[in-house]
Amino acid sequence: MPAQRIDGQALSKTMRAEIADAVARHVAAGGRRPGLAAVLVGGNPASEVYVRNKRKACEDAGMASWLHRLPGSASQQELLDLVDQLNRDPAVTGILVQLPLPKQMDESTVIRAVTPLKDVDCFHPENVGLLTAGHPRFLPCTPFGVQQMLTRTGIATAGKRVVIIGRSNIVGKPLAIMLMQKPSKAFPEAGDATVTVVHRGTTDLPSVTRQADIVIAAVGVARFVKGDMVKAGAAVIDVGINSVDGKLIGDVDEASALPVAGWLSPVPKGVGPMTITMLLHNTLRAAMM
Ligand code: NAP
Repeated sequence: MPAQRIDGQALSKTMRAEIADAVARHVAAGGRRPGLAAVLVGGNPASEVYVRNKRKACEDAGMASWLHRLPGSASQQELLDLVDQLNRDPAVTGILVQLPLPKQMDESTVIRAVTPLKDVDCFHPENVGLLTAGHPRFLPCTPFGVQQMLTRTGIATAGKRVVIIGRSNIVGKPLAIMLMQKPSKAFPEAGDATVTVVHRGTTDLPSVTRQADIVIAAVGVARFVKGDMVKAGAAVIDVGINSVDGKLIGDVDEASALPVAGWLSPVPKGVGPMTITMLLHNTLRAAMM
């Protein structure tokens, strides 16, 4: 039987309606309206699309949203000054500096300049530390989106063998931390799974992925995961976004994986919309803190 497709767009629609309700209740109770300030430096076309989608999602959920643009030639100090201004603005509950930044800027300096209380991407080292210690303030949006996708589809992670392909700071590494942690009152979303992370340094990578009950691909290589790398019935979550001949293609080769897997998240309409949904969740959470 071919894999069941996981509809990230439908899941997102349900979750965004829940978030919009929660925003309305929070504001009606006298709480501050959540507001996301997005910062876009330069004119990267993909970043333009991401920021536009994030802002529209905020507005649809009843949140305020602002876009601050700086030219690609801006200095790092100009960006740091803007971040400082947003850190101090009480109407701004979440700050998103869209990556990548131009070459003259150091991403880690900019990430550290965002106050951790408004760091809705969960990139600041303080928030990464809290996550690692098992007391997260925020959960990073894409890993959180994957976790919600699994939970809400009824794919249990506890006791399961998970293999994550990719060890980036944005996806693979925090996702591994989330899925391997023991659930607690402070961290109910923790996965309690046995997690292996594979990368370019891994010897015989397919022999590792074939052992997984859940394979999560965050590689950035179109159609990297083939059906013969997947155990029969495994859940395969595709985080990848690759542009091939103007089309969006994931990291999973659907044609060969679909007949083998038990579950498959597509690209597009998979993890992508879930990431934006979790950004909304975090922006509301920041307003409530
Ligand atoms: P990244 O920083 O480039 O990391 C890619 C990881 O994949 C690295 O750890 C790298 O290994 C590993 N890798 C690359 N080629 C490999 C190979 N041939 N064999 C084994 N491992 C390999 O990318 P990222 O930021 O994590 O993003 C990964 C993908 O997810 C991209 O397509 C990105 O666009 C997408 N993405 C999607 C969302 C979403 O919302 N859906 C969000 C973020 C990212 P090494 O460490 O050994 O180099």
